[in-house]
Amino acid sequence: MPATEATTWYFRKAARRMDLAERVQRLLVTPARTVKVEVAIELDNGELANFTGFRCQHSNDRGPFKGGLRYHPALDEDHAEALAALMTWKTAVVDIPFGGAKGGINCDPRTMSAKELQRTTRRFVQQIHEVIGPQVDIPAPDMGTNATVMAWIMSEYSKFHGFSPAVVTGKPLDLHGSAGREEATGRGVMYATEQILGRLDRQIAGSRFSIQGFGNVGSHAARLLAGQGGKIVCVSDIGGAIYNPEGIEIDRLLEHVRETGTVAGFDGAAPIEPEQVLTCECDVLIPAALDGVITRENAEEVRAAVVIEAANGPVLPEADEILERRGIVVVPDIYANAGGVTVSYFEWVQNLQSFRWEVDDINDKLRRRMQTAFDTIYRLATRKKISLREAAFIVAIGRVGRATLYMGGF
Ligand code: NAD
Repeated sequence: MPATEATTWYFRKAARRMDLAERVQRLLVTPARTVKVEVAIELDNGELANFTGFRCQHSNDRGPFKGGLRYHPALDEDHAEALAALMTWKTAVVDIPFGGAKGGINCDPRTMSAKELQRTTRRFVQQIHEVIGPQVDIPAPDMGTNATVMAWIMSEYSKFHGFSPAVVTGKPLDLHGSAGREEATGRGVMYATEQILGRLDRQIAGSRFSIQGFGNVGSHAARLLAGQGGKIVCVSDIGGAIYNPEGIEIDRLLEHVRETGTVAGFDGAAPIEPEQVLTCECDVLIPAALDGVITRENAEEVRAAVVIEAANGPVLPEADEILERRGIVVVPDIYANAGGVTVSYFEWVQNLQSFRWEVDDINDKLRRRMQTAFDTIYRLATRKKISLREAAFIVAIGRVGRATLYMGGF
């Protein structure tokens, strides 16, 4: 299923319940613009490489376009557009003054040197600098990109437009980054977990977690959940999957990953098949890697009470219906992983003010945003007897729709 089809499916389901006219649905679902550029660089061995860069700007009715940049060989226009739309709904769910965008390059950063990555990033910025900017469109990290890549973006953009730290978020702390930004998505996942478990009369302490993906989002979520007494029984990444029913020591696992680059081979857990991370017995399943991993085929096998969508789009629509029928609660991506963009918003505000906030202040502000957003969608879901995802979409569509109609101009 194309990624846009899955996102649109969720949107349409909520829009139908809201009795939204077809022409308004079309207006809200259609991206404002998608830019596709050639990113050609010279590799270290003197050969030429041709990549394609994308930036989809979905909506800017509630504020500048906002969303991450993904470096992944499978990135294409369809993915960029689906992820950009999710950003529009996500910024609305946590009520921050941004729209939605997404993009990236179809390169494989794991096979590239740092110099090649830097050349690729700078070339990409040369191609898109006229359509991004602190009040226009503000990129951030996503899969395959990090604070260093964001620093290159700021540096290259500033060559054209003058000193502009607010053009990009997720920058290094020593280059106008924000305290707490790097772990913000994982921290937001922890707050989301706290919220849903609280409503189910459960708690993080003693609950068993299975986490797919041990990158930025998965590793910080694992560390913070373990810090609250959660038992991380299963973890996977692209290199393999590991299982320990007594709970994996996350600090030691982080050290192992720093040394070897993967969770595979960790001596404090047994190796298992990668797909078992989604079906092992646990209380909370956290997909924190790719989209489309919980499907019609494996949704019947999920043995968790709660699924927290830390990744974007990990549960396909047909799987979502199966999980709902089975009474498994899904905390949707447009809420669950919104911690990253929320602290990105804090970083942008700090850059515009040239003023740094303390980390405790940032974490506290993040916790309150996640709590308020959860209260809103949980109340609506309970009142209308609908899923948290449908409730989150209804809240988001209402906010974006009202802004779009106020902006008018059509
Ligand atoms: P990352 O590149 O830091 O890490 C990705 C992880 O997924 C790595 O551990 C990688 O090995 C693993 N992985 C890749 N393919 C896999 C596979 N087939 N099976 C198992 N594991 C696999 O990326 P990230 O920033 O942590 O992003 C992860 C997800 O979270 C993405 O869907 C992204 O869109 C979403 N997200 C990220 C942020 C953020 O702030 N970084 C914010 C919101 C949402």
